[in-house]
Amino acid sequence: MTTTAAPASAPGAIEQRYFIVSADCHVAEPPDLWETRIDGRFRSRLPRIEVDASGQKWSVVEGHRPVRVRDLKLEGEDLERSKAGSRDPEERLRDHARDGIDAEVIYPNRGLAMWASPDPLMQAAMCRVWNDWAIELFRGYEQRMAPVAAVAPADVEGAVAEVQRAAKLGYRGVFLPVQPLGTAPPTERRPGYHLPQFEPLWTAIEETGMPISFHVGTGKDPRTASGNGGAVINYVVHALSTAIEPVVQLCASGVLERHPRLRFVTVEAGIGWLAWTLWAADEGYHKHHWAVSPRLPLLPSEYFKRQGWATFGDDPMGIDTMAYFGGAEKILWGNDYPHHEGTWPHSAEVIERTMGHLPIVDRRKVLGLNAAKLYGFNVPPELQSA
Ligand code: MN
Repeated sequence: MTTTAAPASAPGAIEQRYFIVSADCHVAEPPDLWETRIDGRFRSRLPRIEVDASGQKWSVVEGHRPVRVRDLKLEGEDLERSKAGSRDPEERLRDHARDGIDAEVIYPNRGLAMWASPDPLMQAAMCRVWNDWAIELFRGYEQRMAPVAAVAPADVEGAVAEVQRAAKLGYRGVFLPVQPLGTAPPTERRPGYHLPQFEPLWTAIEETGMPISFHVGTGKDPRTASGNGGAVINYVVHALSTAIEPVVQLCASGVLERHPRLRFVTVEAGIGWLAWTLWAADEGYHKHHWAVSPRLPLLPSEYFKRQGWATFGDDPMGIDTMAYFGGAEKILWGNDYPHHEGTWPHSAEVIERTMGHLPIVDRRKVLGLNAAKLYGFNVPPELQSA
């Protein structure tokens, strides 16, 4: 179960073993998962591919403009990644063994679009389908695989019920979209997580003890830009950087003061922005003191250090600046298997390149011990500390 694929760069170490958790993995759902399982009244409204008279394929999602589907010509490892992410746990274990991974936290793949509809009830119905399916799929693999429950906060009352149901089903994490309305098109008034209407949700999540995940790609339509540079603009601006908002919302609003046992994790957003974000949040708290409400016992950065975490894959800037946001305690590594942004199947090289200089005790935390604590994986005794 343990691995030797990870770096052996500790001073004097010939072979160093770690317990490695990828805190950010994905599973490819069956193509007809939602079509076959969703409440009948929502079926005709599901996201779908339509083919026009000229044979062009379009991705159709309610509330969004249709997006042209391009047939990608992938080769080599790109092609391999596009086909990986198996829903056969044994096949996943084989893929993880190649990459040196012992355990994983699992997110949807197509299901990242569960929060695309402007209708909160549609979102909630799609989330229930995922929640019914994912926990059953990984039943019996609890020490290797922890899928997270998807919840649609736009309908707060429904979200509270789903959080409670998810905890009973055996989930160990709650996936909320980066924005409460998810990737639904902007409305006049977009609610934020700092607003009091979400109070019952925080209470319910806190009671279950499950950490919240804000996985990127769910804060706005991550395909907002098109044309020159669009792919890069979408990745940096419309996917990754959206994670700043829920962090500041929770850390500056009093939510974490009222809910001291609530824990949250940004997922796949990287960590290089955290030092600056928390600095700016504290600066705003001090320098705009005449406008700041509520006044809180702790600074925004201190709430993050108490209750926030962040995952990353390959982010040397974040490693260099981690002392500013709480250090190795606060970050979780993930390979984003099998996505193209991720490090699978070359994680050992990336870990060595970005974390080879860290003390072994820090690497142990970042690579697995922090995630094991948050999501309840058992760590072999010999790998519990440096
Ligand atoms: Mn991911």
